[in-house]
Amino acid sequence: METVVLSALERELIEETKRTADRLYLEDTHKVAAAFRTRSGEVFSGINIATRMPFADVCGEVAALCAMVAAGHRDPHVIVAIHRDGEGTYELFPPCGRCRELISDFDLDTWVIVGTLEQPFKVRIAELLPFKAG
Ligand SMILES: [Zn+2]
Repeated sequence: METVVLSALERELIEETKRTADRLYLEDTHKVAAAFRTRSGEVFSGINIATRMPFADVCGEVAALCAMVAAGHRDPHVIVAIHRDGEGTYELFPPCGRCRELISDFDLDTWVIVGTLEQPFKVRIAELLPFKAG
């Protein structure tokens, strides 16, 4: 797996995602913020929506993708998701399988920031979803 260190803009995307998590955090409902930077440089963020029915939950990545598409963009370049707990502690949050499929449907070359906040790095979504069908 090719891993690549982050640029200053990608480190700023992490900080923007933390700010989204702080702004929208709601215990047991909104804990995972995500943000995309597009190839044209715009940033779109979102927050997860947890429900009482697990299969009805909406991931932060999905919320951020919907914001990007609603603004007329379909060119994700890099994404990061961050889990924030009730104490205000953050962790990088890798995309679930459904989100890996969704992000890769837009662009297999999209970067995903993973690792830890102390040592973040990025990998291509294609590397997180090997042998993708069709
Ligand atoms: Zn997901």
